[in-house]
Amino acid sequence: MLQVSKERMTEKIQTWSQFGKLDGGGITRLSLSEAALEARAEFKKRVLALGMTLETDDIGNMYATYPGSEDLPRIVMGSHMDSVRNGGNYDGIYGVLSSLEVAETIIKEKIALRHPITVMVWTNEEGARFEPAMMSSGIVLGKFEKDVMLAVEEVGGGITFGEALEASGYVGDAKNRLNEKDYIAYFEPHIEQGPVLEEANLEIGVVEGVVGMVNYDIILEGVSSHAGTTPQSYRKDALRAASKVILTLWEELSKLDSELVFTTGEIQCKPNIHTVVPNYVKFTLDSRHKDPEVIAQVVKVIENLPKDVYGCKLSYEEHWGRKTIRFDDEMIGFVEGATKELGYSYKPMYSGAGHDAQYVSELLKAVMIFIPSKDGLSHTVVEYSSPEETYNGANVLLNALIHADQEL
Ligand SMILES: [Zn+2]
Repeated sequence: MLQVSKERMTEKIQTWSQFGKLDGGGITRLSLSEAALEARAEFKKRVLALGMTLETDDIGNMYATYPGSEDLPRIVMGSHMDSVRNGGNYDGIYGVLSSLEVAETIIKEKIALRHPITVMVWTNEEGARFEPAMMSSGIVLGKFEKDVMLAVEEVGGGITFGEALEASGYVGDAKNRLNEKDYIAYFEPHIEQGPVLEEANLEIGVVEGVVGMVNYDIILEGVSSHAGTTPQSYRKDALRAASKVILTLWEELSKLDSELVFTTGEIQCKPNIHTVVPNYVKFTLDSRHKDPEVIAQVVKVIENLPKDVYGCKLSYEEHWGRKTIRFDDEMIGFVEGATKELGYSYKPMYSGAGHDAQYVSELLKAVMIFIPSKDGLSHTVVEYSSPEETYNGANVLLNALIHADQEL
């Protein structure tokens, strides 16, 4: 079996860990920030040194390409280089660097491929500086209007996405965007960002898709009154009612399916004054599962909530959702086949988090490869995958890519 260089893979992770480095470990490398531009410059330098050609599209996505022996569409692999605030050295960047290492192996070892290969970098996947997340893949796939996105101001106020893009020097031609004519398949290696692989002591996650999700706002309206003068029996306390509903949801949703996840992560309480009985509480419910039937049952549970809770009126609003995405079966087969040939332990799984690959899957045959995350942690400075794990994932990518090159 062909293998990448473990030493080079580790060196890449270490080098990019310098761009946006924080004193206590980890990085802050917000999209199009100075640190992100340093990361792009290093990428540019390295792909040009490998003899690859570099193109950018009109939203700063980078595409480094090496020719194949036949006139065929390109096979593309990659991810993003931006991070959240106080993020780690693996989310996103691992996908770019493992793809770069695979390209370097192919070029240096003179492995003959029929298809051209492209290593790509998505602009602004995290949405930590310019909302929303997966902005550029969303623009390419027509999910978001480009003009609307260009006008998005950075979180906390300041310059717009369009201004930051213009200043970056990475604005290219719209004709370079990922498209169905010039590309045939997309691989995205990524850290799992959850505890499943580590807990089961497995080396690789063969990612079959991205779970569907629903997001609801649930609202309770009561009456605000004086905390000292209103006897308990007279109260219509919206926070008391919300507490009851949150616990009811936990109980009811727990009965549905062991793989269902659900979260109340945001809560607003009004007037939010310690001497006043709350008259209004709004909280979120995020719930995810790969089976749309289970998601439909979640919606049923919400619809069946009592409309009156301790004298407070309950209402709800669907915020946004997404359907479960199933990746391409042939591509899943290439990843699974390569994993088996390499002798790695693995598990077919769905991603609970969103990734650019989910949008790309509507355009090209796509798949993802997961490697374990220490303690299941991500979006934090302690995010970690070992040199062995980063190497294993790159080996799977290399061999899956070779299968794709032969069979597509
Ligand atoms: Zn990511």
